Amino acid sequence: MSAAPPVSTASTPLVRAVGVRKSFGGTEVLKGVDLTVDPGQVVCLLGPSGAGKSTFLRCVNHLETIDAGRIWVAGQPVGFTSRGGKLHELREREVARQRRGIGMVFQRFNLFPHRTALGNVVEGPVRVLRKPRREAVEEGRALLARVGLADKADAYPHQLSGGQQQRVAIARALAMRPRLMLFDEPTSALDPELVGEVLDVMVDLARDGMTMIVVTHEIGFARQVADSVVFMVDGAVVESGPPAQVLDDPRQQRTQQFLAKVL
Ligand code: ADP
Ligand code: MG
Repeated sequence: MSAAPPVSTASTPLVRAVGVRKSFGGTEVLKGVDLTVDPGQVVCLLGPSGAGKSTFLRCVNHLETIDAGRIWVAGQPVGFTSRGGKLHELREREVARQRRGIGMVFQRFNLFPHRTALGNVVEGPVRVLRKPRREAVEEGRALLARVGLADKADAYPHQLSGGQQQRVAIARALAMRPRLMLFDEPTSALDPELVGEVLDVMVDLARDGMTMIVVTHEIGFARQVADSVVFMVDGAVVESGPPAQVLDDPRQQRTQQFLAKVL
């Protein structure tokens, strides 16, 4: 007898968050967030300061433990493993392994100041993935070329502009071969004239099929590359949908008010 055909041919979401709640002290900063990202999709997360956007990203990466709900990345429940139909909390080492598949780029570049651009990029593959250094260096150079910094391999962070440092940070995250990239306001700390070069790299990455969640106030970027825009206020998703709908024809007054300020 042949195996039964799959029940559904729809692809599994790469990220699925359901009813995510998180409190700090007595304050609930995520009040039941639902969010789905399909493989290859770019989701832009918008919203005023304090909405819980960074906290949500940190939950996806298990840098925060959630109080309720569940997040799955590539079908795996974040922070848990399923054995015999039951969920077991992961130990620290297993969490680190799970986190390895997710690249994160922050507002601040967080490069190792005493390492060159190339040194920053090869650090993870050599130490964590135990790649032979020669191989890591070869890949590292290719990644630096990909972010437009082939000629800066030997430069130290302090010799690079903020935009260049942020591009090194992106290359460093990519060196771990993530299946998901999380960006938390990657251009907010940059001088305006340096924003474009970082967004260009992110546009390339998106076109290349990388799955991304991007917290940003760059509406132009969202309009250009987002498959879906999620607008968050006060720990909850207020509105979500294709950029043309959420950005150009928002249904909710809070979205309209926010967009009127940032556009
Ligand atoms: P956003 O990124 O949308 O600006 P955040 O996720 O940074 O929002 O913060 C949401 C709320 O949670 C804010 O009120 C913030 O002060 C609070 N918060 C975030 N992290 C912590 C923490 N580690 N301890 C206490 N409160 C926190
Ligand atoms: Mg934030």
